[in-house]
Amino acid sequence: MVNTSTLKTTNAMCQFVPAAMKLRLHFVVDPMGWLCISMVFGVWLYNSVFIPKLVLLPHYNEGHIPWAIVVCYYIASALCLAALLRASTADPGRLPVDPHIPHSEREQWEMCNKCNLMRPKRSHHCSRCGHCVRRMDHHCPWINNCVGEDNHWLFLQLCIYTQVLSFFTLVLDFCQYYYFQPLTGLDQEKFTTRHELALLRVSTLTGLVMFGGMSSLFYTQMTGILSDMTTIEKMSQFSSEVYSMKRSWQWALAEVCGTRWKLLWLLPLRSRKPLQASHHFRTHV
Ligand SMILES: [Zn+2]
Ligand SMILES: [Zn+2]
Repeated sequence: MVNTSTLKTTNAMCQFVPAAMKLRLHFVVDPMGWLCISMVFGVWLYNSVFIPKLVLLPHYNEGHIPWAIVVCYYIASALCLAALLRASTADPGRLPVDPHIPHSEREQWEMCNKCNLMRPKRSHHCSRCGHCVRRMDHHCPWINNCVGEDNHWLFLQLCIYTQVLSFFTLVLDFCQYYYFQPLTGLDQEKFTTRHELALLRVSTLTGLVMFGGMSSLFYTQMTGILSDMTTIEKMSQFSSEVYSMKRSWQWALAEVCGTRWKLLWLLPLRSRKPLQASHHFRTHV
């Protein structure tokens, strides 16, 4: 149940905190973002319904594949959806209107000239969301949310699980076409074969697009994280200043994931605990 007494609304977004879940949810009001995330969800839904119905379950019933393959596909699909939902609804690190700033740390903070609020260095103002985000990486329309200090780890998980699910889908599409029941050898004028071939081609196309896009995005993200730079910082003219004070890649990765327990890094259903306050980080853009 949602505790509506904690509901807060602005022009750009809505936030509410379900008291029972203790998860801080964050929704960006942006029709273009809704369209983009609907397309991503549609691709997930298409392959999560089509692959089990036409490939996995029939061949499992006929004894062509073990049950473990079916279970693994459903687990990959569930993790992918969980990462998508959490990355798109998690608070990326929005600054409070009246933050408590210890006197000794005031020089680590600055005033945003767009929303006139104090923020730690390395924060950035998102013009799409209309507020500042701590250690903002970029605004991603495909999850309709900013990627910042508090949800960057979820965005990485989404990249990983989307790669796993789309690669799994491509392998099954390939097996269905060439190995399980060679569609190339069937009568392609028959309605059922034509129908299945069309579904298979759409699945393969979406799998290739998602796998290719997410692989390049994941590579870009990891090189940024391991060099302790956000996408915004990499594109900025102050990159040489940032590079001069970077931390070790192990620390930078653990800080993004929010825990030193590496087994938890891939678990989407947990909350992130920062290793240190964001304003202790070195220089900013
Ligand atoms: Zn701002
Ligand atoms: Zn944003």
